Amino acid sequence: MENRERMEVDVLFVGGGPASLAGALHLMNRISEYNKDVESGKVQGERIEDPMVVLIEKGAEIGAHGLSGAVMDPVTLRELVPDFEERGAPVEHRVTNESLYYLLPNSQVRAPFIPSPLKNHGGLVISLSRFNRWLAGLVTGSGCEIFPGFPGVEVLFDGDRVIGVRTGDKGIDKNGNRKGNFEPGIDLIAKVTIFGEGPRGSLTKGLIPRLGLNEGKDPMTYLTGVKEVWELPETRTGKGEVIHTLGYPLPADTYGGGFIYPMSENRLTLGLLAGLNSPDPFFDTHERFQEFKRHPFVQSMLSGGKLLEYGAKTVSISGYASMPRLCFDGGMLIGDSAAIFDSRRIKGIHLSMKSGMLAAEAAFSALLKNDFSQEALSLYEASLKESYAGRDLLSSRNFHQGFDRGMITGMMNAAFGLVAGGKGLTRWRGLKSDYEQMKRVRDYCGNSDPKNPVKFDGELTFDKVSDVFHSGTIHDEDQPCHLHVKDLSICHGRCREEYQNPCVKFCPAGVYEMAMDEAAGEERLRINFTNCVHCKTCDIRDPYGIINWTPPEGGGGPKYKLM
Ligand code: SF4
Repeated sequence: MENRERMEVDVLFVGGGPASLAGALHLMNRISEYNKDVESGKVQGERIEDPMVVLIEKGAEIGAHGLSGAVMDPVTLRELVPDFEERGAPVEHRVTNESLYYLLPNSQVRAPFIPSPLKNHGGLVISLSRFNRWLAGLVTGSGCEIFPGFPGVEVLFDGDRVIGVRTGDKGIDKNGNRKGNFEPGIDLIAKVTIFGEGPRGSLTKGLIPRLGLNEGKDPMTYLTGVKEVWELPETRTGKGEVIHTLGYPLPADTYGGGFIYPMSENRLTLGLLAGLNSPDPFFDTHERFQEFKRHPFVQSMLSGGKLLEYGAKTVSISGYASMPRLCFDGGMLIGDSAAIFDSRRIKGIHLSMKSGMLAAEAAFSALLKNDFSQEALSLYEASLKESYAGRDLLSSRNFHQGFDRGMITGMMNAAFGLVAGGKGLTRWRGLKSDYEQMKRVRDYCGNSDPKNPVKFDGELTFDKVSDVFHSGTIHDEDQPCHLHVKDLSICHGRCREEYQNPCVKFCPAGVYEMAMDEAAGEERLRINFTNCVHCKTCDIRDPYGIINWTPPEGGGGPKYKLM
């Protein structure tokens, strides 16, 4: 029995993204206002003395694992930090001009108008990793404790009541033995635990089925986004311009699109999002993104520039119909972990922040009443539904569900939803999980990938290993592999036969490799876990559902600065 340190806290936020950061700051602000009102006699009651509010993050620092497009709707930031500009929020640009292009292999057609959900006028172009770091400064200044490098590895229960989270051990070698620097994880015992782990949270994915939070809901479905930031010799687009693309290089059976946004200091950020429900077993988002950069329209913007940073992450796209029950005894779910995302606007940051703030409001009320039951915390779910965030989620409830039936149906359904207040052509329910939608090679395309392999030139296009180098990803090699494949015999048998080991393709960091094993006399799966950028694609898209992503030792993973 390990002798672990036990730390009692009032409220624990798990994950250091915008949902948790906004929630922690709002909670500290509410407690501070309340205490002042008690002191002045405006409110009858007792002060909340020395509240212990803690936020844990698996990355080496806040922002290290933050990645998004990102054009942020400022509505929630204005509520949380009304003077955000004076307080130095890292805004790259305000959107003043936007365009939408349909790309063909060698040309492009500009859309004559921008569909209203894609209008971003007044939106803030940000780097989420920079934004999170800035917000973390305010959170720390408010008195909340932030522990970076502390992944949550286990939810602690008392019966079905969540009572906190255990953090990961440090100093275990690759064979599972303790090294000289071994430190056991801490048990953080909380009155309220708020899970804001981002898409496919490693704790949330077990918590939801255990508490039956997804009963009657559709499964969550995802996109993978790959993104690069470039430095250019001069500005190539108008300041404040944002460009979205559809079409090439995505095939008609794969949902997604591209984006190109200028940043400050002659930097350009560009990326490609693609659905993890693609039927193509050879689909490789990283490779398609390299093709995207070779398109003449995109290439002309990058000439003479150099790659600064690379990253990849999944986005939870299925929205309202997949949102689990958000409250339970001792805890709540916020942000992407709870599918809080507007798929019609392709926006989630402001909704995540709002969900964090409303969960914080419920936690504040629970602290006053000393009641942390599901019933007390359900204030959060009710207020989310009544807020602008809830209205946005409701009005986009059928958008992605239409695209799940193909691009043409999706477009017709999206157009109908625009004039019908979010209603769908029919009552779309019954989304399939992404991993169920990949086709076997022989059913999809015969017996080999018909696409020509992309040649990487090291200037415009990069192989996965070079791109991972630009993500700053580091893991100590002498630790257990954090990617657990439940049954390797499936990889070497059925999967090789039926899907030709699609993990080699769908991982945007080249973690999975089929390499010759001399002893076995055949290729075997090699897992280069130190390359992992924590995108979670493998945990979602593997067609047998046998890959389990778990957190590696705290502080490992990408070190994003500009994503
Ligand atoms: Fe993403 Fe999985 Fe590859 Fe890591 S191993 S980069 S989580 S697909």
